[in-house]
Amino acid sequence: MNKASRLFWPALVTPKNAVVKQTEQLSRSQKLLTELGLVKSGSNGTYQIMPIAQRSVDKLFELVDSNMQRAGGQKISLPILTPTGLWKKTGRLEGDISEFYMVRDRSGKQFLMSPTHEEAVTAMLATTAPISYRQLPLRLYQIGPKFRDELKSRFGLMRAKEFLMKDLYTFDVSEETARHTYSVVSEAYDRLFKQLEVPFVKVSAATGMMGGSLSHEYHYVSPVGEDTLLQCSSCGFAGNAEVLDSTVAASTDCPSCRSAQLSQVRGVEVAHTFLLGEKYSKPLGATFLNTSAKPQSLVMGCYGIGITRVLASALEVLSTEQELRWPKLLAPYDVCLIGPKQGSKEQQPAEAIENELLQHIGQICGAQELLHDDRKELTIGKRLLDAKRLGHPLTIVVGARAVQQEAPKLELHVSGGEKMELELNDALKLVAEHSRQKKCLLQGNAVTVQDAEAPRISQSVGHQL
Ligand SMILES: [Zn+2]
Repeated sequence: MNKASRLFWPALVTPKNAVVKQTEQLSRSQKLLTELGLVKSGSNGTYQIMPIAQRSVDKLFELVDSNMQRAGGQKISLPILTPTGLWKKTGRLEGDISEFYMVRDRSGKQFLMSPTHEEAVTAMLATTAPISYRQLPLRLYQIGPKFRDELKSRFGLMRAKEFLMKDLYTFDVSEETARHTYSVVSEAYDRLFKQLEVPFVKVSAATGMMGGSLSHEYHYVSPVGEDTLLQCSSCGFAGNAEVLDSTVAASTDCPSCRSAQLSQVRGVEVAHTFLLGEKYSKPLGATFLNTSAKPQSLVMGCYGIGITRVLASALEVLSTEQELRWPKLLAPYDVCLIGPKQGSKEQQPAEAIENELLQHIGQICGAQELLHDDRKELTIGKRLLDAKRLGHPLTIVVGARAVQQEAPKLELHVSGGEKMELELNDALKLVAEHSRQKKCLLQGNAVTVQDAEAPRISQSVGHQL
């Protein structure tokens, strides 16, 4: 079980009268994550993830892993350092390289601290003994750090110089089978973003520096987004203004249904899918043996999800100025339990109930999902304030009302919802309902309310705009 008293949780304490020098533009998520001690700034544009937030990152890893594996993905790890020679072969060092981190080893050989791994993974396959058409399609993915020397790194984890990415690379025998792979992976992405229950927009995108023929972007809508998206409320069309014809981008008429229902929103790009074709396999000589045992270029696709960016921008979209709100599957803990204050007159009887609850809740949702705020030197009010700011889905308080003779009640706070006063069994029912909803989501099913009598827990409903 997790005890708040033992948790490393370096909240930012700003002394009164301190003059805060604002050097960086702050977003809501960054402000809350920093003030609450969930994320610390390292150097300009790099971040240190503290234990509470790391739990959420780990949950996102698991969710991504399960969806990648459902799409036939196999997990690998590639080195962060990629020889720059490979990037010369694909022509990607000819453009603007100001965002690349480059280092040399003691012999003078130059490497990129990889901003992406198309060259590395393709070169790996090119140096593998002949691959047979029978082994294809091949879908290889990894989750790890990527590096980009952003001119304007800002909004914390949303646009950092070092960030976590999931990158999947797929290899097929033909454009036709690669398109099938594209639809399989797209389905996995759609499922993942629905599981996160944050409204998202999927748009056709420019292929840009990656090259290729087919591409989509997934966006969260937020005023701090750096892309302009056009959405039609009539037919559901959505596009990135960057790739649309300038007359379309400037018009209010939908290019799809011609209604005048086109509006602009700002989007944060959280994932991207590309059909690459032979752009990398040709120059790097990555081939397979076809049915006539002749070498033929592999047809590739690449598929990224910005792990730290998904987390930060989900919080950006869901949270209020004062309180974090998490996607159900990413909340660091499901339940926070707050017991009586040390020395209060209800301490002894209330602690008996507290201990009983610790056991029951642990059995229902798993001990790892329970945070026991055992900082008994603090008042209930102070601990409840922390719990609300941290945005635990459920916070249960064992206070004076829990030990009164007549109709004893626990106080239960739902993140983003009202305070409720419930009998012990009803509080436990809510914990069980929360766990059931999480299970539904993990299986990729829509959350239904099973018990019509049960108070409503679910606040946000994920959908594709
Ligand atoms: Zn339309």
